[in-house]
Amino acid sequence: MLVNRETEAQFSYRRDELLGKPVEILVPERFRSQHPGHREDFFADPQARRMSEGRELFGVRKDGSEFPVEIGLRPMETDEGMLVLSAIVDITERKRSHEKLERLEQRFRATVESAPTAMVMIDRQGQIVLVNEETEKQFGYHREELVEQPVEILVPERFRSRHPDYRKGFFADPQARRMGEGRDLFGLRKDGSEFPVEIGLRPMETDEGMFVLSAIVDITERKRSEEQMRRANEALEKSNVELQQFAYIASHDLQEPLRKISSYCQLLKEEQGERLDEEGREYLDVAIDGAERLKTLVRDLLTLSRITTRGKPLAATDADDCLEAALENLELAIEENGAQLTCDPLPVVMADGSQLTLLFQNLVSNALKYRAESVPVIHIGGRDLGGVYEFFVRDNGIGIDPQFNQRIFKIFQRLHNRRDYSGTGIGLALCQRTVERFGGRIWVESEPGAGSTFFFTMHKAIPSGGDNAQVREYVSVGAPD
Ligand code: ADP
Repeated sequence: MLVNRETEAQFSYRRDELLGKPVEILVPERFRSQHPGHREDFFADPQARRMSEGRELFGVRKDGSEFPVEIGLRPMETDEGMLVLSAIVDITERKRSHEKLERLEQRFRATVESAPTAMVMIDRQGQIVLVNEETEKQFGYHREELVEQPVEILVPERFRSRHPDYRKGFFADPQARRMGEGRDLFGLRKDGSEFPVEIGLRPMETDEGMFVLSAIVDITERKRSEEQMRRANEALEKSNVELQQFAYIASHDLQEPLRKISSYCQLLKEEQGERLDEEGREYLDVAIDGAERLKTLVRDLLTLSRITTRGKPLAATDADDCLEAALENLELAIEENGAQLTCDPLPVVMADGSQLTLLFQNLVSNALKYRAESVPVIHIGGRDLGGVYEFFVRDNGIGIDPQFNQRIFKIFQRLHNRRDYSGTGIGLALCQRTVERFGGRIWVESEPGAGSTFFFTMHKAIPSGGDNAQVREYVSVGAPD
């Protein structure tokens, strides 16, 4: 009875070709026979509704071609009786994009579905086209609730407005990369809760155009353990500082009374020694010896605790100068032992000069102390490992059983009797603490009877004040970690 202009356009009929004709002229041949039945049903229960929910509907044009449609029906009460007004929407486009999604699904489903990370694929407009099972689990959605939705549904409210710009940026320069480098990223679950994520993006070129596949990793656990680690470190640092302070104060305060004991015993021996018998003088000697030993111990402990409490900031330090100073301090011992000492040129490293001197001094003095029968031959050298320099102090002394390689660096750990070799067992602990403070490590390679080589590493100093090109070249060769 009535058609509008859009009907003419969609079905390619002129109005006068339609008016007065049965509506079946617009229905493909194969559905025509059922149509009058459906119409009768509608008139029997006339209510506004969609036509044949669930079935696919088609219109047919004058030229016989078909197109998919959706049809809304509505009864109209008029003076002439009941009429039906039907609104017919051509859904060709919608179907096409739906099919496109299905093709993409089929193509990527296999790759993406079983991935252990949440994977979400979106198109240029930011519409989700594909998600995998892990996405459903992580975000608490069913995939039907996500597909064809804007991806911002997964992004917390406060970041949403910026998101489209980031997306445009990605499509403008599509390369596999991490999202939001340096920013903290969060996902938003269906229930409104958030969780920290890391997101990898990768462009996917398809027949349907460019898409982005994003892999989303929930890093809640990692963040939590990082936080735990940070707290544990803080606690450790605090207790370390307390321990160091204790060691420092104790050793510092012990010095004075010790000095008194030792000097008064000495006095007693000198001034009253005559009045004592042999045994009495022996006792006094033992007491003096004990006090002296305690003094050395306390002095070494104090030095050890000062490594961290009194250390100067690390600065570019010429290792050659430090070694030279150390050897000067040991001049007498070197001479007494008739040692042959050779050194390679050493680099400038990041260190505290007086501590580096003490380090060389300890290692060389051990090399002299733990000498064998033969003439001590000691060599100090190293090799360049890029940003790091590996020093060594090699001797031909008595050597160390490899089973003690770790133990000797522990405080008070000695392998010898005090009568054979004097010492407190603090020297190597001091060396280790120094090297570690400088950011390096120390170890020994040795064989009993075949001498020992002590190695330690240190960061080389980056030349400063020079021209930038030189600095840059240095950095590219290998800067300190
Ligand atoms: P100390 O020399 O006071 O005993 P150290 O901490 O310097 O303390 O050394 C710990 C132990 O390591 C020594 O007792 C010694 O047994 C062993 N040691 C250190 N340096 C050498 C060396 N160059 N050759 C053989 N043994 C060594």
